[in-house]
Order: sequence, then structure tokens, then C-alpha cells
Amino acid sequence: MNTGLKIGAHMSVAKGYVQMVKDAVNIGSDTFQFFSRNPRGAKAKAIDPEEIKEFRNMLSQNNITQVLVHAPYTLNLCSAKEETRNISLEMMTDDLKRMELYPGNLYNFHPGSRLKQNIDTAVEQISAGLNKAMFKDMHTTVLLETMAGKGSEAGRTFEELRAIIDKVELKDKIGVCIDTCHIWDSGYDIVNDLEGVLNEFDRIIGLEYLKAVHINDSLNERGSHKDRHALIGEGHIGLEAFKNIINHPSLCNLPFYLETPTDDKGHGEEIKLLKSLYKI
Ligand code: FE
Ligand code: FE
Ligand code: ZN
Repeated sequence: MNTGLKIGAHMSVAKGYVQMVKDAVNIGSDTFQFFSRNPRGAKAKAIDPEEIKEFRNMLSQNNITQVLVHAPYTLNLCSAKEETRNISLEMMTDDLKRMELYPGNLYNFHPGSRLKQNIDTAVEQISAGLNKAMFKDMHTTVLLETMAGKGSEAGRTFEELRAIIDKVELKDKIGVCIDTCHIWDSGYDIVNDLEGVLNEFDRIIGLEYLKAVHINDSLNERGSHKDRHALIGEGHIGLEAFKNIINHPSLCNLPFYLETPTDDKGHGEEIKLLKSLYKI
């Protein structure tokens, strides 16, 4: 079995940063994802520098070169409400500052829900927020997540993501995280035409901006705009498509993160399964 696939899952940071690395290693991860703060609230736990030092040691001892920190779901840089936009900017600014304590990692966020505002306004607000939160000497790469297009979600097409990136000043610090469930639900046919989808990504955004993949099956059909994750191989995307995804030359060296509806043990089994399908 080849173990070159770089894969992990979304982990809980509730028991601390060090325990989280142990839990991730226990299920055979090479990387992992966690929330920067409570996903439904704005409050971030104070960071203990000693704990972060130990966290960094643990990462390097276990050859985990990059982790993905996910912004809370409440963060919405393109909210129609100015107050929400301001709180979101504060959260992102604070998250990015905190992440300088463990440099060289990835920060992923949902572009946001624009409600009745048009997409141009949303693009303007998101990029303005990014330009305020990001700073010149930062050591984190900020990733826009591809969205399913549920409700008024921004970032459902490659064009929308490109429009945001176009307005971001620090281009070497911005990138994209493809969520397989989301792009499928958004309408991209990664089952029958993975090559075509990636060509389109390259043409519109540029593959050099693609930095990570959220690997999830989908409970719904392509184009459903629903965003309901399924276990790998148990949704409408299916195992064969995931085999092609992890082995595709444009994707095979990226980090993959499971956000499937199961626990650590279940994620461990999915990691094992996907590693057994990795050919490179
Ligand atoms: Fe997400
Ligand atoms: Fe995701
Ligand atoms: Zn999702």
C-alpha cells in the first residue's frame, strides 16, 4: 500500500491543541483541520503560548507540515448588515494574528451569504475585508472555499472566486480550497468530467491558486445547491470518482480533509480506504 496521500479529517480542538494532534495521528492522519473558534459563535479561547509551542513540536515530530484552520460559520464578510461585516472582519483579523504563533499553515473561510445584495457588492465587500485582515509579512495562506450555492452563498462558481482574488492585494497569500461536495452540489461534474472541471478551474482561476481539498461525498444530486455531506462512497459522487480525484496529477499532491458525517474512528476508516486507492 502506498501511503503518499496527504490526508486527514476535521478534528475537535476541545481537549486542546496537543490532544488534537494525538487524536489525528491515532487515526492515521498526515494532516488535519480544526475550527479557529466556536463554529457558531464569535468567542475565541485565549491561546497559551506554551501549549502552542508543544503543538508545533508535536506537528513536526509527526511530520505534519501543514494544517488547515477553518473560520467559524458565522463569519460573513459580505453580510448586508454592516455590524456583521465588522464582527467578521474582527474575527478574521484576530484568527490570522493568532495563526502567526504557528506559521506556515492554511486558513479557510466561506466567502459568505450576500442575501439580497448583488454579487458585485459581495465581491467588493469580501475583497475589502480580506485586504484589511491580511497583512504583508503574514505566514498563513488564506483560502476561499468553493460553495454549494445554498441560498445566497457567494463563491458558488469559479468566476465569483476569481473576481474576489482579482481584488485581493496579497496574491501570494490567497488561494482556494475545493470542497468536492460543494462543487458537485453547485453543478460541476467531477464524476464524469473531472478533467473538464479542472481545466475550467485552471482557465478561470489558475491551478496555482488551488491549495487544498475538502473531500466529502454528497447526499444530493449534482446542481442541487444543498450542501449535505455524505460518507465517502455513500453519496452521489461515489468511490470511483474519489479514486480519480485523489490520483489526478493536479490534485494528488494537495492536502485532503474529510468533513464527512462520522466520528474519529469513521474518519480513520475513510483515511485507510482512500490511502488504499492512492496509486502514486
Ligand atoms: Fe467549510
Ligand atoms: Fe468544506
Ligand atoms: Zn459543506
